[in-house]
Amino acid sequence: MREGAAAFAASLVCPTGGCGQCRQCRLVAAERHPDVVLGRRQPGVGRLEEIRELVALAQRSPLEAGRQVLVVEDVHLLGPVAPTLLKTLEEPPPWTVFVLLAAALPSSLATIASRCVLVRFQPLSPSQVAAVLAAEGAEPERARRAADAAHGRLDRARQLARDPGFAARRAAWAAVPSRLDGSGVTVVGLVDELVASLDAAAAGLASAQAEQLARLATEAAADREESRPSRAQLEDRHRRELRLHRQEELREGLAAIERVYADRLFASPAGRSDALSAVDALGRAGRALVHNPNETLLLQALLLALGRRRADFDG
Ligand SMILES: [Zn+2]
Repeated sequence: MREGAAAFAASLVCPTGGCGQCRQCRLVAAERHPDVVLGRRQPGVGRLEEIRELVALAQRSPLEAGRQVLVVEDVHLLGPVAPTLLKTLEEPPPWTVFVLLAAALPSSLATIASRCVLVRFQPLSPSQVAAVLAAEGAEPERARRAADAAHGRLDRARQLARDPGFAARRAAWAAVPSRLDGSGVTVVGLVDELVASLDAAAAGLASAQAEQLARLATEAAADREESRPSRAQLEDRHRRELRLHRQEELREGLAAIERVYADRLFASPAGRSDALSAVDALGRAGRALVHNPNETLLLQALLLALGRRRADFDG
């Protein structure tokens, strides 16, 4: 969706409707166009603050292009802040275009949605993703497994296909339910392992980022390309990528645990309520992830809850 929004923004500020080559297009692609704000929620900045800032920006005249484009991310999570945005959406200045990105369309967004042209983005099917990976040179079995785990996201699938430790990490998460024994010490040990596996998962991305920074330094020394992001901007983008990457890895880990309980749900009628409350607790933990919680605390609380149920049931 972000890539779609950026391409759309470029087509609005480019003098020839989105050539991909001109200064305007290149500035948008590098996320440096003065008239295109590409979402990017900042940690520590509240949604209300963010939306107020956008509403103020909407009134400003474009600096360079004839229009300005403001992309707002995660609109489905705006909650009580949504009305602040709505007023501006109802009467935007003619030169301002809003692009709102949302992972879902809850009924609370109905009024906002009624002011918008709706463009639906479908996740890619696993076979489409696997085909792209294979065409890019991934071994077919690996491409298939990465595609299955990427939930329709090509960028994630590419990372997974490059990542040799992926299968082992997923197995470690799936082994969690059978390793819980109701003791807090076990939970602490397990969580340490899981957090270490999150670190390991991020290692590949971190080294790719370090290379990118090094490349930027050499290129910047060689010439002065104006559309190149600054070091601070790139570092900022890297931090966001890493945070997102960890969050997805964690989300997938939770999904691997959840599959175990889902299987138990069908395997034994006796353990059904147990498995159900486990799936419930996992769902709550997954939803809590959007608030950037402390990973260790989140996992400890979750595993303690899962372990307690099992101990009660076994006893
Ligand atoms: Zn262009």
